[in-house]
Amino acid sequence: MFHISRRDLVVGAAGAYAAFGLTKPIAFIGAAEAQAPAQGFRKYKVGDIEVISLYDGVWEKPHDENFIKGANVEETKTALRAAGLTDAFVPIPFTTLAVKTRGQLVLIDSGTGGGQAGGPKAGQLAQNMAAAGLDPKDVKTIIISHFHGDHIFGLMAKDTNAQTFPDAEIIVPATELKWWTQPVDSIPQPRRGNAQRVQATFPSWKNVKVVDGEAELVPGIRAIPAFGHTQGHTAHLISSGNQQLLASADATNIQALFVKNPTWQAAFDHVPDLAVETRKKLFDRAVADKLMVAGYHWGLPNVGTIAKDGNGYTFTPNPGAAT
Ligand SMILES: [Zn+2]
Repeated sequence: MFHISRRDLVVGAAGAYAAFGLTKPIAFIGAAEAQAPAQGFRKYKVGDIEVISLYDGVWEKPHDENFIKGANVEETKTALRAAGLTDAFVPIPFTTLAVKTRGQLVLIDSGTGGGQAGGPKAGQLAQNMAAAGLDPKDVKTIIISHFHGDHIFGLMAKDTNAQTFPDAEIIVPATELKWWTQPVDSIPQPRRGNAQRVQATFPSWKNVKVVDGEAELVPGIRAIPAFGHTQGHTAHLISSGNQQLLASADATNIQALFVKNPTWQAAFDHVPDLAVETRKKLFDRAVADKLMVAGYHWGLPNVGTIAKDGNGYTFTPNPGAAT
């Protein structure tokens, strides 16, 4: 395979396009996803609402021929290099959103819970909240997109499942809760451990609010059902004035692979064909309505705009502010 340095990608872009067999430019967004960002948060405005992306580390996922239906490991590595990323592993960052709306501090997803999911380089959320000037005690509401561990383990202690945020309201999608709380032996084997953890926590917690379908959850944040990644996976639309940010959660995994190639199906998707349909629908809406878009696994900065690019899409990050 070709080896193309980062410098070649930036300086000699025309040559790089040819080397990858491309006839038109693709966006090179840099190697931000490959390593911990210098500063673990970015701030953005959506009208009057402030949104803060909080980096929670990265999973350096080993390559695996079964990871993506639609691409083999060689194709995966080529796509990673084309985005300026390492191809030694698949770098999967975690990025929680904090939203300040009408004086309320809201989190969308709770992170890996100090690295309970995502390996040794995950678990930086607490330090990056502090760096961004946010106190976990001020969090009044936590909105959950879906129940994979990298999104919910921040709600519970590792060994005891004790609540990390007993006084905050936790808003969960009804369809998601229903699926994970069905009898464990009806859940596919690899997901049973996670189901047991869900069943040991959410049903007995007093501060859980279950919301069905498209609904306003707090002022300025609307649930947008986006099923496929999981049975009840939900995106969120943050709106203020004439600006809107679509927090797409795990409608795709890392943008270098799955925004570029929306038909690639990661093994994480529970209902893969529906996941493909949903991400195309969300991104087509984002393009048509000129929405800002954020992805949980897009690394920092994880907020920007989406454009159509051949059969896929290109994500152009907004640098945001690091102070
Ligand atoms: Zn995830």
